[in-house]
Amino acid sequence: MREALELGGLKKIDGLKIIDGGPMMGKLIANPDTDIVSKTCGGLIALPEDHVLIQKMSNGDKKNSRIARSACDQCTDCSELCPRALLGYPIRPHKAMRTAQFAPYAESNYAIDSIFCSECGLCSLFSCPEDLPPREMCMIAKKFHLGNGVKLADFKGQPTIHPMRSVRRVSIERLIKKLALLDYDHKAPLQQVTQRFEKVTLPLKMHIGAPASPVVKAGDRVSAGQLIAAMPEGKLGAALHASISGKVASVTDQAIVIVRE
Ligand code: SF4
Ligand code: SF4
Repeated sequence: MREALELGGLKKIDGLKIIDGGPMMGKLIANPDTDIVSKTCGGLIALPEDHVLIQKMSNGDKKNSRIARSACDQCTDCSELCPRALLGYPIRPHKAMRTAQFAPYAESNYAIDSIFCSECGLCSLFSCPEDLPPREMCMIAKKFHLGNGVKLADFKGQPTIHPMRSVRRVSIERLIKKLALLDYDHKAPLQQVTQRFEKVTLPLKMHIGAPASPVVKAGDRVSAGQLIAAMPEGKLGAALHASISGKVASVTDQAIVIVRE
């Protein structure tokens, strides 16, 4: 990942943290020297360590649960502006907050509708007037219930679009301001660069479904574009092809590494 940042003109990253993806749904990178840029990467954002977005993304489940229990007054703003709720899905993030205050998820079906959360982050990063983490509480409940076999298909009925949906859309300008990103809102046109990579690490899972199965082994020589991992029979997923010609340096259950010769 550091190579990609340098190609983008960022030579020093001391005092900065990197987000893989957008400011709302991106993930904080633990180590730019070991994390890689995969085909799911839509962009990289570098922000100062003390930026509010970085601070929020750095909070783990334990800290978020503690914050959630501390101050939610059940105003329901998070639910009223939730894009999934406005589309008619039965999600109510303020209920996930209430559950966090009064009952462990393991003992409660109360926040079960959190499985409809798209994890967009609007509730935590824009809607909540108290800067609390309803998205993160929905994510905990969603993970718990999906892990226990609850399926979207278990919910019957058709969603009905909320009559106020058209007037509850969020302005991008206000969102950028709330995210404290006004200072960074400059045009950044794409620039064509040529780079010859000597080594690539290709994860076997960069898609939904099952990981691809390697069809090469360490020591094999491969050409750019050659199939190196295929989908197991009857499984949903995506095959993997070599992005450079070279020698397969290693094959694990996570990734295939190719080194140019
Ligand atoms: S999480 Fe925030 S927006 Fe949602 S009910 Fe609590 S205080 Fe209101
Ligand atoms: S993160 Fe989930 S609960 Fe929050 S606004 Fe988005 S879809 Fe709704």
